[in-house]
Formats: sequence, structure tokens, C-alpha cells
Amino acid sequence: MIYKTLFGPVPSRRLGVSLGIDLVPYKFCSMDCVYCECGPTTDLLFERSEYVKVDIVKRELEDFFKKGKYPDYCTFSGSGEPTLNSKIGDVVKFLSENYDVNIALLTNSTFMYDERLREELKDLDLILPSLDAVSPEVLKRVNRPHPLVNIDKIIEGLKNFREETDVKMHLEVFILEGVNDFEDELKKLKNAIIYINPHKVQLNTLDRPGSVSDLKPATKKRLFEIINFWNLKNVEIISRFKSRREIPSYSEDVEDLIFNTLKRRPSTIEDLISITGLNVSEINKYLDILEEEGKIKSETGERGVFFKVP
Ligand code: SF4
Repeated sequence: MIYKTLFGPVPSRRLGVSLGIDLVPYKFCSMDCVYCECGPTTDLLFERSEYVKVDIVKRELEDFFKKGKYPDYCTFSGSGEPTLNSKIGDVVKFLSENYDVNIALLTNSTFMYDERLREELKDLDLILPSLDAVSPEVLKRVNRPHPLVNIDKIIEGLKNFREETDVKMHLEVFILEGVNDFEDELKKLKNAIIYINPHKVQLNTLDRPGSVSDLKPATKKRLFEIINFWNLKNVEIISRFKSRREIPSYSEDVEDLIFNTLKRRPSTIEDLISITGLNVSEINKYLDILEEEGKIKSETGERGVFFKVP
């Protein structure tokens, strides 16, 4: 069976080996973050709907688990914001009732204000929400959200989710030097973190150019300065995978396919999706390794971020 909504299992920095579940088409999101590794948002949406039919997702999950291989996590992630799919709760329920597997959600937190959604997510094992800014003007610069996105509601929603459920929460803060790392914003972020009370805070920064050309990744030194400035006990820096040897599901065939494609011509993520038919998150894992090994490099061009063989 060729899966339309599942991808991987792929290595994840934070989840080990993770089976990805993609509940929205490429690239439906309620935000258009300047650092997004999936490329620019094509459909900036605030309306939740069954954009991908969950019956298809369930059939594919049944087929996957028939083979008896269990990943470390089943993770809602992929081409955009998973909670835009109004039936995400059905899939969480289906997984938790039928399979002994950890369930995780990567979310931009936009819809966490919705009490019904929070109730539907209570059987997750782990939620990885992001919060990159507290001031509306910084949020606009970093996340370029749909006009209906409301930061106060996001923070309140995350705090409520922590209080209402036992789900582990690892809050991700993406730092861009000179954009959201000035003192006033860092203070506001610290207050929001204390208010939300996540189990962990994970600092992340750019690995490669984002969709805006003048973005600078934060240095390790800067990230440590922020950790010291906050002086909270549960903050860590997300580390990269070191090599393909650490990745059980790494496929040399997929690596060759991507590398040979880039050898022929520089390509964007969108190009690679249409050429290889692979999911954006899966492609990103291979690009990470190829880039870390110096076999490819990325640079910003007219159509966004291009990958090429130097
Ligand atoms: S919320 Fe996630 S998927 Fe959406 S634009 Fe931002 S980084 Fe990309």
C-alpha cells in the first residue's frame, strides 16, 4: 500500500524514530513562519476542516501496524498545522484505543484556545507546541500568522492544557538573532513560560536559510546566554542528529534519489516534493544529513531556499 498520509518512520531530533501522520495538504497552515523548513505557506487558514479524510488515515495506520513494527512515536506533523484538521481527535482516539504506541503532536498552538480540541488531545503522550513571541508585533515578524490568530488566547490555551491533562509538554522556542532575542521580548517569553508551566523548554534556531533571506541563526553562545538570562531550570538546546548511523530507518536509496536530483539541478523543497513524491518532513531529514556532511548546501534564491551540490 502506498501511503498518502503516513511518512517514515523518520528520525526526529526530539522523538527518536517517529511515524509521521500528515493531516493537512502541503502547505496548509495558520502561520507562515519566516524560518519554516517546509517552504512558504500556500494556504494561510484559520478555518478547521477535515482537509484530509481521517478514514484514509485510519486505513493506512491499520496497514502499517499489521506489519508489527512499532516506532518510538506516532507524530502528527508534516506539511502544515495538524490541528487545522477538525477530525484530529478521531485519529488520536483510534490510535490510543487500538495500539500500544506513544502519540505526539507538533503544533503552532494556534487552536489550543478551543476547549473541545484540548479535550480531544488529552490522550496524547507528548505535545510539542511552539511559542516564538509574545508581543503581537514580534509574532507578526517571526510567524506571520493569519489575522485571526491571537497570542493571548494561545498562551491561555497552553496553560489550560497543562492544567487539564497529564500530557507531557515540551515547549519549543525558535530564536532568531536580532528578531525575537532582545531583552524585552525575552522577559515576556520568560513570563509566558512560567505561566504555561511546560515540563521542558527547548530552544531551537535555524539550520539553514529560512524563507526570508536576511535571517541569522542564533549561535550556541547566544542560546546559552538566553538560558542564563531566563534562569529557569528546565531549558535545553535541541541538538541535531550527528550521522546517518544513528538513524535506524535511514535509506541509502532515498538519499541517492535526493542527491542525484540535486546534482542535476538545484531544487527547492517544493521541487523535491513533486519530483520524489516524498513527504516534506521526510525530505528534510535527508537534507539535514547531506548538508551536515557537506554534500549539499542551501542558499536563498528568487523562489525561496534552494539546495544544490556544490
Ligand atoms: S507553524 Fe510550523 S508548518 Fe506552519 S509555517 Fe510555522 S513552522 Fe511552518
